[in-house]
Amino acid sequence: MEKVVIVGTGCAGLTAALYTARANLKPLVLTGRQPGGLLTTTSTVENFPGFPEGIDGFELMTRMQKQAERFGARVQFGCLEAANVKETPIHLTIDGEVVKTETLIIATGASHKHLGVPGEHLLENKGVTYCATCDGALPMFRNQPLVVVEEALYLTRFASKIHLIHRRDALRASRIMAERTLAHPKIEPVWDSAVTEVLDVKQDKVTGVRVKNLKTNAESTIDCAGLFVAIGHVPNTHVFKGAIHMDEAGYIVPEKGVKTNVPGVFVAGDCADRVYRQAITAAGMGCAAAIEAERYLEALNQ
Ligand SMILES: Cc1cc2nc3c(=O)[nH]c(=O)nc-3n(C[C@H](O)[C@H](O)[C@H](O)COP(=O)(O)OP(=O)(O)OC[C@H]3O[C@@H](n4cnc5c(N)ncnc54)[C@H](O)[C@@H]3O)c2cc1C
Repeated sequence: MEKVVIVGTGCAGLTAALYTARANLKPLVLTGRQPGGLLTTTSTVENFPGFPEGIDGFELMTRMQKQAERFGARVQFGCLEAANVKETPIHLTIDGEVVKTETLIIATGASHKHLGVPGEHLLENKGVTYCATCDGALPMFRNQPLVVVEEALYLTRFASKIHLIHRRDALRASRIMAERTLAHPKIEPVWDSAVTEVLDVKQDKVTGVRVKNLKTNAESTIDCAGLFVAIGHVPNTHVFKGAIHMDEAGYIVPEKGVKTNVPGVFVAGDCADRVYRQAITAAGMGCAAAIEAERYLEALNQ
């Protein structure tokens, strides 16, 4: 019987692991298919406090894991396949094996949606990115023309020009934001259009995108140094569907802070955050979930 199982080894899961390990709860921490989480897919992280020169994403996550392991966290390669949270103790199926636990911390993150066009995957981190807040300030994008699919205003601080590609002929944002976006001198909307290819895989960096007008089928090329894709996220929460309260997009909706509708089940990070989705906010929620799990166990065993 486990005291705490943590699902996910991103910033949320590993911070929860550090706190529960220091509380002597010897947490079992599952990596899922992406050990270290989303930050391992990026190069320099410039906005995680404590690293004035920035730190490589993989390096940061390796350090977080080591720190949690130092206090007794047990990180295990494995995927949670099913969870029966209605039983006491909670029954989990991890790669075919049943594990019982008194508490569960869900820290499974959210995956970004892809355009699914040629060149997109091969040029990821070489000019194709999915997070304006994370990557917009990087030197490779400063004073460069960019192509943006959906959100654009934030990037006007860095780019020389922004081509805003939209599948329809109006923005979905609130009226005030839409007006502000369209009035900005750096932003040029490209209506009724979709990106069909990211160029140039041969040069191993983004040099432009091919765009198709969905009404006329006319194709054109836009030169740019970066493609920012912001077409939404999919929370990795399907395992808990029907058992844990979620919104229509699949984000877990906490009852209070990091508590879920099921006693003993807590949530942290991007799988419950459709607003901020940053490493530091995920880590903060991981800390809170760990403290709540510890308090829950204390009350249970009194
Ligand atoms: C390219 C890129 C660059 C970024 N740069 C920055 C940046 O510079 N600064 C910043 O603050 N933020 C940045 N972010 C955002 C940041 O990565 C996320 O906000 C953060 O990783 C969220 O942490 P998390 O722990 O909630 O989820 P994740 O990091 O997504 O981790 C989720 C974990 O859950 C595991 N998992 C999922 N399903 C299961 C399952 N069924 N069983 C077991 N395990 C499972 C996964 O394998 C993974 O280990 C960036 C994101 C991207 C994509």
